[in-house]
Amino acid sequence: MENQFDVIIIGSGPGGYVGAIRCAQLGLKTAIVEKYAVLGGTCLNVGCIPSKAMLDSTERFAGIQNDMSEHGISAENVTVDFDKMVQRKSQVVSKINGGVKFLMKKNKVEVFHGLGSFLNKNTVLVERESDTIELSAKNIIIATGSKPASLPGITIDRQRIITSTEALSLKEIPKHLIIVGGGVIGMEMGSIYARLGARITVLEYMDRLVYGMDGKMGIELQKSLKKQGFEFLMKHKVTEAVHTPTGIIVRAENSEGEQVFIEGDYCLMATGRKPYTEGLNLENAGIQLSATGQIVTDKNLETNIKGIYAIGDTVKGVMLAHKASEEGVFVAETIAGQKPHLNYNLIPSIVYTSPEVAGVGSTEEELKSSGRLFRVGEFPFSASGRAIASSHTTGLVKVLTDEKTDEILGIHIIGERASDIIGQATTAMEFRAASEDIARISHGHPTYYESLREACLAVLGIAIHI
Ligand code: FAD
Ligand code: NAD
Repeated sequence: MENQFDVIIIGSGPGGYVGAIRCAQLGLKTAIVEKYAVLGGTCLNVGCIPSKAMLDSTERFAGIQNDMSEHGISAENVTVDFDKMVQRKSQVVSKINGGVKFLMKKNKVEVFHGLGSFLNKNTVLVERESDTIELSAKNIIIATGSKPASLPGITIDRQRIITSTEALSLKEIPKHLIIVGGGVIGMEMGSIYARLGARITVLEYMDRLVYGMDGKMGIELQKSLKKQGFEFLMKHKVTEAVHTPTGIIVRAENSEGEQVFIEGDYCLMATGRKPYTEGLNLENAGIQLSATGQIVTDKNLETNIKGIYAIGDTVKGVMLAHKASEEGVFVAETIAGQKPHLNYNLIPSIVYTSPEVAGVGSTEEELKSSGRLFRVGEFPFSASGRAIASSHTTGLVKVLTDEKTDEILGIHIIGERASDIIGQATTAMEFRAASEDIARISHGHPTYYESLREACLAVLGIAIHI
């Protein structure tokens, strides 16, 4: 019974590999199937980690060029070795690839590299380079992630019309990068290349950036990125991208119905991602998909077929690494007979631009449309001692609370270290804190996270520093 497992997981992204570790911790004999030679999925290989490596490198470069002189530091003739920057990014990824491989070994998760597909509801066929192998299990978890979505009429050629994957491994810095989509990928990738000197033009269908986040955050982010040289064409619907001898022309329709043409050397398609289930032969197991291609699951993330679960980017909900990981743990514990809990309302979203944007809970727009009565408290970083001391005064913290009970319903931050402050916000909300609770907790001074307390005080009308 060598190839008989308690659980087989298809896909080794943050959903799959974290789920595999939890299964193993719970004493389940676990196999993971990954079609690529390396583990870690989109997040580690072409997503979260490489993008953050490039964002970090370019932020240092931009910082040296723009922010040093006011500190009395002069740095002249600062140059970029782009190849080396990209190489470092790849080294960061390889290091963590090794880490995930080590974790599989440590937890005795058996790894099979090859394309996994269903033969029937209990059997997975793995097509390896030189042979095939059949694995069986009572429980199978689909964690095959997502891939970039394009637009009708636009073919991604991966040379000039590219996705985030190619954008993270370009051989040159684009002269003029046209970005289709003002979402998270567009803003992070645009930041990388704007800092390296590329002209950036963003075409976005909606009237504001990062649309799923609190409206004020999108507006403030746009102001900041404009100062960094981004050009924005909002309310523009892109319909076509065609090659020219030297690059690319993108066609869009503006809100007046006029045709607009933009010429650049690269076009990054950042219009969302779609679940990736191709090649899985789901029909052999009878697994249902929704009209939008997501695997349909119940509240336990079990598909319509008993014993087959789906997690992460393949199912409904936000496409975020930590959501996928939480679901991996949730399903592992469910299979082991536990009764786990996952609060989908409190999954934080973070955009790693400069300034960073982070949010958790409901947005002001969501509260308004649900008719819930709420109060708002805001505190600008321009009034924070720590922010002033380090010249990072852009942005604000915004807290939304229930009008009657004062329970915090949403926290939204744009500014330096928003990605860290959102951790405290999420913890407080998980414990169903009121703004008064945070207001009464001692906060270290001078810190960025004091601004969260001040925003809570602002809800109560008693902010100290504004
Ligand atoms: P994936 O990570 O996509 O992993 C799926 C795995 O399944 C892949 O390794 C794939 O090769 C494998 N697979 C697919 N089909 C088969 C098959 N038939 N057989 C075997 N293996 C198969 N999220 C964040 O939270 N924070 C970020 O900062 C962030 N940055 C991002 C930046 C970019 C540029 C992108 C593109 C995404 C980013 N994301 C980020 C989103 C995040 O990467 C995804 O939400 C996350 O990777 C989803 O995890 P997953 O486990 O569901 O799937
Ligand atoms: P997105 O959904 O965030 O943004 C896509 C944007 O494209 C939307 O604003 C949409 O209005 C716009 N758009 C769609 N069609 C258009 C058209 N025809 N013309 C002009 N604009 C158009 O998608 P994304 O930025 O591609 O990111 C994909 C996923 O990856 C997201 O779900 C995100 O969660 C994840 N991701 C997360 C992070 C992070 O957590 N920091 C980073 C990168 C990616």
